[in-house]
Amino acid sequence: MRRGITDFLCAALPLLLLAVSGAAHAAEPRKVLILNSYHQGYKWTDDETRGVLSAIGHTKNVRVYVEYMGTKWSSDQAYFRQLRDIYQSKFRKIPFDVIVATDNDAFDFLRRYRDEVFGKLPAVFCGVNFFQMEDLAGHDLFTGLNETAEFKENIDLILRLHPGTKTIVFITDTSISGTKTHDLFVQAVPEYRGRLNFQLLEDVTMNDLLETVARLPDGSVVLHTFFFKDKAGRIFEYDEGIELISAASRVPVYGAWDFSLGHGIIGGYLTNGLDQGRGAGEMAARVLSGARVEDIPPVMKSPARLMFDQRQMDRWGIRRTDLPENSVVINAPPSFYAVNKGLVWGVGVGMAGLTLVVALLARLYRETQRAVRMRDEFLMVASHELRTPITSLRLSLQTLQRAERMSAKVGAELMSRSVGLAARQGERLNRLIDELLDVSRIEIGPLPLDLRDVELGAIVRDVVERFEGDLSRVGCPVAIQGDGAISGCWDRSRIDQVVTNLLSNAVKFGAGKPIEILFGEQAGTAWLTVRDHGIGIEQAQQARIFERFARVVSIQSYGGLGLGLYVSRRVVEAHGGRIRVDSQPGSGSSFTVEIPRAEPGGGERKE
Ligand code: ADP
Repeated sequence: MRRGITDFLCAALPLLLLAVSGAAHAAEPRKVLILNSYHQGYKWTDDETRGVLSAIGHTKNVRVYVEYMGTKWSSDQAYFRQLRDIYQSKFRKIPFDVIVATDNDAFDFLRRYRDEVFGKLPAVFCGVNFFQMEDLAGHDLFTGLNETAEFKENIDLILRLHPGTKTIVFITDTSISGTKTHDLFVQAVPEYRGRLNFQLLEDVTMNDLLETVARLPDGSVVLHTFFFKDKAGRIFEYDEGIELISAASRVPVYGAWDFSLGHGIIGGYLTNGLDQGRGAGEMAARVLSGARVEDIPPVMKSPARLMFDQRQMDRWGIRRTDLPENSVVINAPPSFYAVNKGLVWGVGVGMAGLTLVVALLARLYRETQRAVRMRDEFLMVASHELRTPITSLRLSLQTLQRAERMSAKVGAELMSRSVGLAARQGERLNRLIDELLDVSRIEIGPLPLDLRDVELGAIVRDVVERFEGDLSRVGCPVAIQGDGAISGCWDRSRIDQVVTNLLSNAVKFGAGKPIEILFGEQAGTAWLTVRDHGIGIEQAQQARIFERFARVVSIQSYGGLGLGLYVSRRVVEAHGGRIRVDSQPGSGSSFTVEIPRAEPGGGERKE
């Protein structure tokens, strides 16, 4: 990882410098010095530098200089004085606009030598451990970010991921930073008194520490901060100590700084160099944009973020879904998508195509099924409808034949009843065949109309007269209420057919209750309503009844091919009009026809 960041910096810096200098033909670029306490390749420092660069990168016309003091290797007062002298010569000709100091040594160096070396110019710090406002007493033009650890957040996180925790084992060393970390941790403890025990592992040798963590009982969790130097004076790199501790520990190990991540901690709410650098870079960018450094107060709450290591999560059985939102996970296996991007897209596109084809096929299948179902229904209804009058007709004829064979004298009344019945059944057959023929005519092309001047009231009276026998048989009175002599240019027999259909339905579905036929005229359009008070039609079925073969009642209860309203609609439409229904189940139905009185399209009329 260290090499990766080093490579990134080596590649990115010249590019950045080039980019900013390229834009600087017009005005002299502003200049920023990043003064790092430590060396390039030290992860914490590399992260801070990356953070500063990413925040300043948005500012136009800036040139960034990056300097490393190397105080991990040498840090006595004589060395700092030498650095002062070197920087005085090295940066003599470079008038910086702002300096960003990362970590305590650079911060201390600037407090001491800034004015001498660089002049009194704005300085922004980050990574300064346990910063206090008093640290700036007597030092002008400084602002920056405190660096601490977030212990309350980390204890709460441990309790969330390990609800059975009884003891938290706290590890830090006895350096100045370790002592300050200890004080900070102790401040967080009282809130958990009674709920949690705390065990501090501080002034110990690494061997004792490893032996202790290897024997910790269940219900313990380790919270590790840093352990750079043990009681025996042994020094450990930031990654060495934690790797030993994590490997030896019987219980999960959490951390507080991100430099331990990837080296044995499960994770934590981690203080990190990138956010420190980014915060300082944002402050420097504000100074470059004209803000006064005195107006930018230091940030006391150290930025931190939730970070986890998948490898340690696997070791301790923590699932990704257990983590709080906004958690960053390192060492996560690449997702199936990332590994097989091409395959996923190929399969995705293929699946989408297939889904489309399947959906189309399913629709076709449904439509075919529906057509087959309608055909079967129609055949069943048609055979029933045709057979009924034929059977009845045959019975009437048999009665007459038998009477004739037996030379029996058939009474005049019986004779007239049988002949009347036969005539009615013949009539019914005729109507059914006409309906079927009409449907095939309509399917072939426009319905031919024989248009003449016709009077609507006369048609209504004719139809009702023809129905008199049926009406008196079912005992159903019909009231006609017409508005004067309304005439129009219509096909008389077709309008008669419409009124006949509507009245025959009203008789069939009217439950023997009174029927009203109303008609009139409005704005050149004749209207006619046939109203019954019978079974009515469900709202959801009302649009369907004007379709072919649409029947919404059972064939056992009511006859009919389900064609009458379809043919009526086509006849009315051929006249340029429309037909609609208004119905309530159980209260009855009103069918209204509206037809323009003039010839549709104003065409020539056949005489
Ligand atoms: P049918 O010849 O089978 O009556 P129609 O096309 O005339 O066919 O009617 C279609 C369907 O509409 C009928 O089967 C019936 O369910 C419903 N319907 C038509 N008129 C009425 C009415 N006045 N009251 C209740 N239902 C009706």
